[in-house]
Amino acid sequence: MHLTISASSTALFSTWVFVENFGLLFDAGDGVSASLGQKGRKVRHVFVTHADRDHVCGLLQLHQLNARDGTPSIYYPRDCGSFPALKEFMGNFDPQSGPATWIGLSPGDIVNLDKMHFIEARTSEHVTSGNLAKALDYTLCSVRRILKPELHGMSGIEISALRKSHGDDAVTETQVVKLIGYSGDAPKLNPERWSGVKILIHEATFLERETARNFHSNLPDVILAAAQLEIEALVLIHFSARYNPGEIERAIREHAAAVNLRFPVFAVLPGRVAGDLLSTHPVWDPKI
Ligand SMILES: [Zn+2]
Repeated sequence: MHLTISASSTALFSTWVFVENFGLLFDAGDGVSASLGQKGRKVRHVFVTHADRDHVCGLLQLHQLNARDGTPSIYYPRDCGSFPALKEFMGNFDPQSGPATWIGLSPGDIVNLDKMHFIEARTSEHVTSGNLAKALDYTLCSVRRILKPELHGMSGIEISALRKSHGDDAVTETQVVKLIGYSGDAPKLNPERWSGVKILIHEATFLERETARNFHSNLPDVILAAAQLEIEALVLIHFSARYNPGEIERAIREHAAAVNLRFPVFAVLPGRVAGDLLSTHPVWDPKI
């Protein structure tokens, strides 16, 4: 399946990523409604990673324009008090719009989008506050039934006979495919965390290794860690506005070439809106 992903992301100012196939919005930074236009009506699920302003400030307008009869559902880290406060403020400020449905998530929670797709929430390392999960990251997964590997040598007639006598579970098993991993803000790319993901959307705020203070990732370490993964594409977001697009693209190519990266890298450049990102030319293409 081709995933139609549009996004805009600039550290400090705004981040949102829209996966049109599922009406799925990761984070809701300023300008999301202005950029999506009428497509904003397709947003059915909003998964917010944390309450920093660059990830939530688009909610007000999205809610005013699109919230009806409990849709969209807005998911947020349950231990973060900013979201109930925001819900209350928006209810008072805009009583004529909505309601949306607000749902707090804990690490490990699963949200079904439809019969075959779900989101898993996990605690993010971006905001640390004891045992409280004030920031989450999200993985979009699909579920399908596949033929049990031990039956691969059987004929179709034998398989349908087995199904008839012992039921579907004797013939097929459930396979979970991790379609998209979305880091939100993160201090580093942890390869174990994202193992098995097909498309990883990860932040890379800085082009240099200088991030220990502020819980953000840097490009050299992100590329180095991503090289350990078997993914189909890496999408880099959340670059600092201090860099111009040419600098960012050069740095991506340089670091990707240094580790001979085997998959393409796409970048959401500061101040830009990327439409159908995966149909554009990647910044790093291993085939060239
Ligand atoms: Zn941010």
